[in-house]
Amino acid sequence: MENLILEIVSGKQVTKKEALKLFDFELEEIFFAAAKIRRKYKGNKIKVCSIINAKSGQCSEDCKFCTQSAFNKTDVKVYSLTDTEKIKEFSIKALENVDCFGIVSSGNSLNDVEIEKLCEMFKKHKKVSHLGVSIGKISDETFLKLKEAGIKKMHHNLETSENFYPNICSTHSYQERVDTIKRAKKFGFEICSGGLFGMGESLKDRIDLAFTLKDLDSNSIPMNFLMPIKGTALEHLPAMPPIEILKTIAVFRIILQTPDIMICGGREANLRDLQSWIFQAGANGMMTGGYLTTIGRGITSDKQMIKDLGLEIELNYTD
Ligand code: SF4
Repeated sequence: MENLILEIVSGKQVTKKEALKLFDFELEEIFFAAAKIRRKYKGNKIKVCSIINAKSGQCSEDCKFCTQSAFNKTDVKVYSLTDTEKIKEFSIKALENVDCFGIVSSGNSLNDVEIEKLCEMFKKHKKVSHLGVSIGKISDETFLKLKEAGIKKMHHNLETSENFYPNICSTHSYQERVDTIKRAKKFGFEICSGGLFGMGESLKDRIDLAFTLKDLDSNSIPMNFLMPIKGTALEHLPAMPPIEILKTIAVFRIILQTPDIMICGGREANLRDLQSWIFQAGANGMMTGGYLTTIGRGITSDKQMIKDLGLEIELNYTD
């Protein structure tokens, strides 16, 4: 076995150069290190989360991968903020099976009326500490309102490296995204921030993203894998091969060590029969029950997969 793998298992923190080298190793060797680290920090517990797309489409931003951008010509459903009673009902049902439920909205930010409606609902929600929000750019005033309403978790993906970011979005900057995360931390929110892979970025870009997330001390790292969708600017890209996805997950676990690594969009479509390998690759969580604009395979099959692997679903929070 490569010395570097043995050193990692003994607690070595890799440099960017060493992390890049890991992609050349045999899958079994990277798995060995990544699975050991997952076991060390997460035992046999697996976190499962789900989301609702609370406001969809017609987004003014030009993210090239996104079906909801008005710059892309897709047939995604367009609707304004869903009735908050429906969001509440949906979340209560979902929280019977998952650890965290995310309320996600399209667009650069929500307006004051929409924020008020959500906060009113959060204040009455018995399981508010299991909820997270992903609502774009957020002012300090809104952070404060969300905090007062009981929200603990803020989701805001960086998507990719700073270097590659201009290739996928020009209407807002990487720095704005980093700043939103830093301000969320300042207000005491748990951070859920990760990325989307397979957009044409290099291996180095992926490693740069992992190190940026490490610097930002993100508590949870959602990893999404592009499903090239007709009408988006990235529709022509090939899907990532499953082994490359698994290696990317393992390298993230080796770099990041302690945060939750959650496998989200593109799991079923891109990994196919290999999706149960995500845990061997170091992930300790996954999204279930469908994604923002695509359908997943459902909670029953996902729960069975976790049970068959001898792992246990963690329902962590208490109100
Ligand atoms: S990723 Fe978010 S900000 Fe970008 S186009 Fe899609 S909904 Fe808008």
